Amino acid sequence: PFDVLVVGGGPAGASAAIYAARKGIRTGIVAERFGGQILDTLSIENFISVKSTEGPKLAANLEEHVKEYDVDVMNLQRAKRLEKKDLIEVELENGAVLKSKTVILSTGARWRNVGVPGEAEFKNKGVAYCPHCDGPLFAGKDVAVIGGGNSGVEAAIDLAGIVKHVTVLEFNSELKADSVLQDRLYSLPNVTVLKNVQTQEITGTDKVNGITYVERDTGEAQHIELAGVFVQIGLVPNTDWLSDTVERTKFGEIIVDNHGATNIPGVFAAGDCTNSPYKQIIISMGSGATASLGAFDYLIRN
Ligand code: FAD
Repeated sequence: PFDVLVVGGGPAGASAAIYAARKGIRTGIVAERFGGQILDTLSIENFISVKSTEGPKLAANLEEHVKEYDVDVMNLQRAKRLEKKDLIEVELENGAVLKSKTVILSTGARWRNVGVPGEAEFKNKGVAYCPHCDGPLFAGKDVAVIGGGNSGVEAAIDLAGIVKHVTVLEFNSELKADSVLQDRLYSLPNVTVLKNVQTQEITGTDKVNGITYVERDTGEAQHIELAGVFVQIGLVPNTDWLSDTVERTKFGEIIVDNHGATNIPGVFAAGDCTNSPYKQIIISMGSGATASLGAFDYLIRN
């Protein structure tokens, strides 16, 4: 059996695997897609000490670093079941059952898409999901935020300090964000809030040039010209496969303590699949290191 089995090969999983392998213990990593979300990211400018890089390049660096160590890398394999027996068992979609003394869950998350024409075509060409990451790319330009919940309104407040103008599009007739956030939003001079509207299309040529929406009460279509669209309708953790084995929040995020431990002894978690409040590469890597050290601590005590 493994001493540490990492499930998920994004920044959190890669970091956890390296920290474990450096302890000289038997380490394995299973990933559906080694690299994770950064494979879909163009430019990364907030990975501290690297002024600017590209997602696929960082993913290749992660893999290269992991392979410096004696880690059993099982790429293109999806885990479908976890069970705590004497050891912890992780069953893969291909039927194999891996056994380990400890497991670190780092299966990440995915942004919920609006699913309108233009969204997929213009991803990284004006369609963005992370204001902390991509906000500065739109300095001085007009942007829209789709979604009027807490994350949408936080994004709009954040962006309003960087860009020229922000339009918030909310499907319902009221914003769902906390009232303190709404008050702050409405106090800003360069924000327009459109309620009861449905996004119909993100338009563009080689990059985004506008958004078309329908006013739901009149059925009338409107078009606004802008340079960027931030989709903020939720981040979904990749934790469905755990069913009710590991304790999760109502949003599906795995609940961890400050050692990265879950409610199941020997099972740890890190990165975007957890209830960590902020989801970023540097944060995922830090929490991967924490979970790995937590697992090592557990191993020497049990
Ligand atoms: P992920 O990167 O999501 O990796 C999860 C891993 O688990 C993957 O290998 C996946 O294949 C695997 N997996 C999932 N389910 C299973 C399963 N059942 N079995 C086996 N493996 C599984 N952050 C920044 O700091 N700066 C940026 O500039 C930035 N830009 C971004 C741009 C975009 C378009 C996106 C989508 C995200 C961006 N982020 C950015 C966020 C950042 O990518 C994430 O915070 C980070 O990748 C999270 O790392 P993670 O390891 O927790 O999860």
